[in-house]
Amino acid sequence: MIFRQLFDPTSSTYTYLLGDGGEAILIDPVYEQVPRDLALLQELGLKLKTTLDTHVHADHVTGAWRLQQRCGSQIALAEVAGASGLDRPLRHGDRIDFGGRYLTVRATPGHTNGCLSYVLDDQSMAFTGDSLLIRGCGRTDFQQGSPQQLFASVHEQLLTLPGECLLYPAHDYRGITVTSVAEERRYNPRLGGDVDVGDFTGHMNNLNLPHPKQMAVAVPANLRCGQPEGDAVLPETPDWAPLTLRFSGVWEIEPMALLEHMAGLQILDVREAPEFIDRLGHLPGARLVPLSQLTGSLDQLDRERPVVAVCRSGVRSAQACVLLSKAGFGKVANLAGGMLRWKIEGLPVATDSA
Ligand code: FE
Repeated sequence: MIFRQLFDPTSSTYTYLLGDGGEAILIDPVYEQVPRDLALLQELGLKLKTTLDTHVHADHVTGAWRLQQRCGSQIALAEVAGASGLDRPLRHGDRIDFGGRYLTVRATPGHTNGCLSYVLDDQSMAFTGDSLLIRGCGRTDFQQGSPQQLFASVHEQLLTLPGECLLYPAHDYRGITVTSVAEERRYNPRLGGDVDVGDFTGHMNNLNLPHPKQMAVAVPANLRCGQPEGDAVLPETPDWAPLTLRFSGVWEIEPMALLEHMAGLQILDVREAPEFIDRLGHLPGARLVPLSQLTGSLDQLDRERPVVAVCRSGVRSAQACVLLSKAGFGKVANLAGGMLRWKIEGLPVATDSA
């Protein structure tokens, strides 16, 4: 069996690729990482059969729909999650085949009401989503979460697996990649050792965590299995630079990639004039057109040459990208993280006036 653990640094999400007999499944794919996953599937000679989400995520958008569009893979998720656009509503006890191997579905609600864990046929590994994290667990304060339910799920469905069974979570924020049932039984500070349901509930009800930054976008998007709203046609991947498609529909370029592809591009800085020469400076060769004046200045730009929009943090420039695309510009990208990241990465900056 082929097994790969993949990481999305933006949301600290692990995506898992399992392959056998030329067939693959992906667990918890991330929207922006779909090109990476497609390239890996192709290089390993695997056909993607099914994508599985462990739950409706609040911190990133699933790659399920995007992969379905590219590979014809089936989208599978808990039936009780109530998502639209899924091909295979899953229930406790279902079996997901790939090649000669399979995963068994275990309902492990509590972090959300639709959390599922996936256990490999020989119980040598299990994918626990946010139900059980390494020395931790997912929060229980939204999406119909319940500490009592999570406590029961973990104790009845996960910690009862063989001690040597390896557990792979949906996230880790410290860079640890895997744990085992024996380890978590003993060392999980929330759910292991002698902790009882009362201790656990008291702890979970007093975490007072802020909501995830992406929640307002991610939850509704994931309830559509990661399909953008409105016209849902996937754009062709541009070939003029290495770009990442954000769920918002905007293509992004990383600072280093921009530096390497700068020749031949138009750099469009959409900040206000005083910002262009403040301490952040601007990209060498950038043209200043504040966002408020962009609509009236479109004929100053070359429609044939790619345009990269820049602002302080990447928010205004994302809006500029939408505007340019609507105006018929075909090759448009946003500088990821704006001048703030450009500067942090130590890339060249000019300070001359416009
Ligand atoms: Fe989660």
